[in-house]
Amino acid sequence: MVEASKLWFEKACGSSECRTLIHPWTDTCLDATKSMLWSCIKGSYKFYAMVYVIQILMRGKKLKKKDVIEHLKMYIKSGIFGLTVGSSFVTLNCIFRALFFSRFNYYTTVLLPCTISGLAVYFEPPYRRVLVVNLFVNLVFEYWLRTLEMKGWLRRTPGKETLIFMMGSAIFFYLLRLDRENEKRTPLFWFFTPPRISKEVGKPMTGIHGRSPACPHKEPCINYILKGTAQLFGVGCAMTMLRTIIPRLLTPTKAFKSLKMSHLKLGLFFGGYIGIYRLIVCLLCRSQGRDSALYALPAGFLAGAAFRASPSTAISLGPVTSSLQILCSWGYRKGLIPANLPLVELLYCVCQGLLFHARVMHEDVCPRYIINLMTTVTSSKADHIQAAFIEKLQRTLL
Ligand SMILES: [Zn+2]
Ligand SMILES: [Zn+2]
Repeated sequence: MVEASKLWFEKACGSSECRTLIHPWTDTCLDATKSMLWSCIKGSYKFYAMVYVIQILMRGKKLKKKDVIEHLKMYIKSGIFGLTVGSSFVTLNCIFRALFFSRFNYYTTVLLPCTISGLAVYFEPPYRRVLVVNLFVNLVFEYWLRTLEMKGWLRRTPGKETLIFMMGSAIFFYLLRLDRENEKRTPLFWFFTPPRISKEVGKPMTGIHGRSPACPHKEPCINYILKGTAQLFGVGCAMTMLRTIIPRLLTPTKAFKSLKMSHLKLGLFFGGYIGIYRLIVCLLCRSQGRDSALYALPAGFLAGAAFRASPSTAISLGPVTSSLQILCSWGYRKGLIPANLPLVELLYCVCQGLLFHARVMHEDVCPRYIINLMTTVTSSKADHIQAAFIEKLQRTLL
């Protein structure tokens, strides 16, 4: 793959017309805007259909009629967000090129329009904006990590990533348990939410039967632990199956044959994660006779070891990003961050600009998620633009 430095980019593309660089499939800007919009309408609603199905699966609760209507409304709005971001790239570039800039510049071609189009995040309801920002900040961390690795400054290994995940989980679950004591909880999207700290106290107990009065749950400990493990194991397997089977829906026999033991890995991670966490908290509650937020530290750390079953750079940084998010929301509540500062929205714009810039200029170190996201939302138009751009670059290099 080709890496576009500032120098090369401006040499290869600086004097291009927008029709050769930005919309190689058509000559006129108006036609480009129309065709891009149509591709993004299709792509965006397809993408959000997947997102909402996964979110509903992860909730693990039955949908009521009220929920269905609510989800449908959110789905329509999220779709508008996606299609605005996707389609505005071409239009903004054509406008900028015609009005302000005489040449294509390394920073104003992708970074600037994609930072501006991030404002479309206002189409999402506030609590979903927080979730999207969490995801994008996490992706920026991944992008930086990959950049450092490419420069030879560090090496990513599943072992190191597991350790980061374990330490992150310890801090994250501790903060999460403290956060549950607040009236307004921070919106977070994680595998599970640890229960409130139980106020009850009881005598320390031995054996494995029943529950301690201090346990933060109602049923016997064994049931509580196994139920969580089985549920999350199921969710993990279901997610893998969806990902494997959906692209092969037209050939169902082949689709089922393609399922392997390795597809259980995600389930093992999810199930092990909640199972170990609950086990440690229950053991501590039983032996101490009272509950404490501090139990989340050893429990989160050891539970994080389950990540080794299915390691990935993006998820390894998840607990760290989410911990920062909780700290920020406390900052707002305590007045350390001005209440009228739209931090979430601004942060989203910056992250989107950086990541989409990485997609075009530094494809090698761009998180896979962003590449897939842009392909899906633009119905492959993004790859079309990318291919034409890379070709230009290569022609200059030769
Ligand atoms: Zn144009
Ligand atoms: Zn228990």
